[in-house]
Amino acid sequence: MSAHSQRRIDASAEQALLEAIDRWVEREVRPVVMHHDHNDIWPAELVEQMKEMGLFGATIGQDYEGLGLPATTYAKIIAKISSYWMAITGIVNSHLIMAAAVERFGTEDQKQQWLPKFASGEIRGGLALTEPDAGTDLQAIRTTAVRDGDDYIINGTKTWITNGIQGSCFAVLVKTDPKAEPRYNGMSFFVCPKGPGFSVGKKFDKLGYKAIDSAELVFENYRVPAANLIGGKEGQGFFQATGGLELGRINVAARGVGLAEGSLRLATAYAQVRKTMGKPIAQHQAIQLKLGEMVTRAEAARLLVTNAAEAYDRGERCDMEAGMAKYFASEAAVRNSEEAMRIFGGYSYSKEYEIERFYRDALLMCIGEGTNEMQRMIIAKQWLKRNPA
Ligand SMILES: Cc1cc2nc3c(=O)[nH]c(=O)nc-3n(C[C@H](O)[C@H](O)[C@H](O)COP(=O)(O)OP(=O)(O)OC[C@H]3O[C@@H](n4cnc5c(N)ncnc54)[C@H](O)[C@@H]3O)c2cc1C
Repeated sequence: MSAHSQRRIDASAEQALLEAIDRWVEREVRPVVMHHDHNDIWPAELVEQMKEMGLFGATIGQDYEGLGLPATTYAKIIAKISSYWMAITGIVNSHLIMAAAVERFGTEDQKQQWLPKFASGEIRGGLALTEPDAGTDLQAIRTTAVRDGDDYIINGTKTWITNGIQGSCFAVLVKTDPKAEPRYNGMSFFVCPKGPGFSVGKKFDKLGYKAIDSAELVFENYRVPAANLIGGKEGQGFFQATGGLELGRINVAARGVGLAEGSLRLATAYAQVRKTMGKPIAQHQAIQLKLGEMVTRAEAARLLVTNAAEAYDRGERCDMEAGMAKYFASEAAVRNSEEAMRIFGGYSYSKEYEIERFYRDALLMCIGEGTNEMQRMIIAKQWLKRNPA
């Protein structure tokens, strides 16, 4: 069972938390989104507020000073924020996936050392898996860690790392035995705080997901204590890194729900005020067909996310459920934002309206935490395993 299993929250506490998030989004996030997004400015003040709300410890257990929220509640929070500004949730999510790796697979000493500081947001960071020549094929990574006394020495380059510039600590996937067969047996996962030999390379200029730093991380003879090897044993890294992706996929799916719902909200409002042929466009059947599909898609995506999050909270293996939620909800985000663009007509193409941001941000959901091509293969493999001939 995972460290996360059997988490509960009573309905009134959850409601109060979601209402607090609503108020924060309304008062603090909405007024500044366009400024940050259009100018690609990291939202320092919002990050401080998220720290105060405890969001950097949202899924970290209460034993380690986190909020200890179930995945179901966490997914609702992420969907809510994402229905106004998806990108900001990346600052919390990547960080919490790093934390989940330590909480699920770390030694007790590692949990005591790292989790309270992750939970308070004093140390923030993310997950460093991808390399220039290894994204989907994670086992092809080339970054190495070589034992040297009480330390390991890490060399290599990670790319596309969320929070790469603003974060100070990353869970880094490396090869401790590059010749191992199968390749995953030679992989290990380290908690790596920034220090000598660990620098930031280029920052990516992106289509969407603005204001959030995506960067290269460069390791040149970076020395990390052997005590930072997650779980204390070499060869476990691939499973530790991919195990954490279940929560990551639920989160990306929740972001997809938020984007799908936000696109629907904007389109619904616009369709009732924009008039053609003497009536609001919402009265035209062609627009109603779009709205009918959009609301159904958003609702179906939300239900799939709830289903996956509930399985996660029960401590069950849920790669199939998380995969279905991630696949469907991210495609729902893309389709709903595209349909909303059509409903907005020419104005969709203006940066004075918000819908273009939803359209730019939605596509990323199909790529992160395992592409949607891979999700369908994961779903099918699990399906076949559960249904042998
Ligand atoms: C904004 C952003 C933020 C990111 N943040 C992080 C982060 O914080 N940490 C991190 O480690 N990574 C991060 N990534 C990297 C992301 O996880 C990878 O981009 C993703 O895993 C895909 O890898 P790739 O880009 O190398 O594509 P590739 O692996 O080269 O895939 C290219 C295409 O081939 C398809 N494909 C590949 N292999 C197969 C196969 N076997 N069967 C069928 N189709 C296949 C893929 O689905 C895709 O369509 C981020 C990426 C972006 C864009």
